[in-house]
Amino acid sequence: MKITVLGTGYVGLSTGVCLAEIGHHVVCIDIDQRKIKNLQEGISPIYEPGLEELLTKNIGAERLDFTTSHLEGLKAAEIIIIAVGTPQGDDGGADLSYIEQAARDIAEHLNHNAIVVIKSTVPVGTNDYIKKILEERLKKDITIKMVSNPEFLRQGSAMHDTIHADRIIIGSDHEEAAKKVGEMYLPLHVPILFTTIRSAEMIKYASNAFLATKISYINEIANLCEAVGADVQDVAKGMGKDKRIGEAFLNPGIGYGGSCFPKDVKALLKTANIYGTNFSMLKETIIINEKQQHLLVKKAINRLGDLKGKKIAMLGLSFKPETDDMREAPSIKIAHLLSQMGTDVVAYDPIATNNAKKVIGNIIRYANSAFEAADGADALFIVTEWDEFKQIDLTRLLQKMKEPIIFDGRNCYGIEKLKSCETLEYYPIGKPAVI
Ligand code: NAD
Repeated sequence: MKITVLGTGYVGLSTGVCLAEIGHHVVCIDIDQRKIKNLQEGISPIYEPGLEELLTKNIGAERLDFTTSHLEGLKAAEIIIIAVGTPQGDDGGADLSYIEQAARDIAEHLNHNAIVVIKSTVPVGTNDYIKKILEERLKKDITIKMVSNPEFLRQGSAMHDTIHADRIIIGSDHEEAAKKVGEMYLPLHVPILFTTIRSAEMIKYASNAFLATKISYINEIANLCEAVGADVQDVAKGMGKDKRIGEAFLNPGIGYGGSCFPKDVKALLKTANIYGTNFSMLKETIIINEKQQHLLVKKAINRLGDLKGKKIAMLGLSFKPETDDMREAPSIKIAHLLSQMGTDVVAYDPIATNNAKKVIGNIIRYANSAFEAADGADALFIVTEWDEFKQIDLTRLLQKMKEPIIFDGRNCYGIEKLKSCETLEYYPIGKPAVI
């Protein structure tokens, strides 16, 4: 099939590359000229394991092309996939300005009938709204059919998740259009659920808000475990063995972040408010998450007192491992809290430092290695659970520090590794400290 994808971010690019990999002819359009120039040369603008390899392979096979021209990019499209950003707006709801512009771009340059698929995460009713924008502007005699096809990939494993998705959701009021989009995905052999447009839109928000709530739930259990002297990892294991609960998303930590959970929970809450249902549980999910992002600083103050003039090493900046994405990363909050207290923070991240510099700026310092960050530190925070930190030589790391104190926001270490350190004060989340 001939497919055009609008937006070459984490979702658009991963989708475009995977659709080319399964044999379709894909053109990706983006308004960012630098991104497109790099992509044409096979350089990915984002860090995503396995992406660049498939990118160059499919450009070489002439199944994948990139352009900034909507006219050029839409010329042959049977299916147009919109994957532009829907960030959080000022009122907490989704900012639809990029998707509105994408619709105007399509209407202006489309010269034949096509199926328009909205893959971006959009509040219930947005497909109808975008259809209206399109139909008001499309050239005479040109018709489009709308399909809602929300995306569930996780950053850091986007290629794997796209190729081996748990399910594909296709929502449409046009049986024929839904069938065609289903056929597009057929080579992936992933179960497909066909629904109405509104149900498809809702499935995405209901899923993300549920996962965010599961995280806030286990974080509250972790806080309670600390208070009563239980071990949250054993508790989570015991809970997860129950098939009704499941093991996933029961890792306590310092709160969820990233480009999706924070904004999607807030957008669903806004939808609930608009429609007059009192979804108070979501308010608590948000409050717990914000509280959790303060946890390491709170623990450090409890142990060290005033942090003014103290040096803290921060390991990890990205919102999760295997990504360079800094959107809503807990590290941002922690960096600001510490800098406001006059703490000297030196941070290290294997991949995200350049992006972090743009977001956090020079209120903290940046190191080129974990050992450099730890040099002379009064304490060390583990903020992102990169493998590099899990596998690090802890004894060597502690030797660099002024005081061998670790506040681990991601429970990276088992008891054996901790026992191998001669001097260590270790404060995990939801379990007894090791001193
Ligand atoms: P992103 O910000 O990384 O990328 C969006 C891209 O769209 C940018 O490159 C931008 O230049 C481009 N763009 C904007 N307007 C355009 C236009 N008119 N024409 C062509 N290109 C245009 O966004 P993302 O993280 O890939 O997310 C995209 C959507 O998918 C969002 O709605 C998001 O909520 C959803 N989503 C994201 C993830 C994720 O893990 N990032 C997962 C599932 C769903």
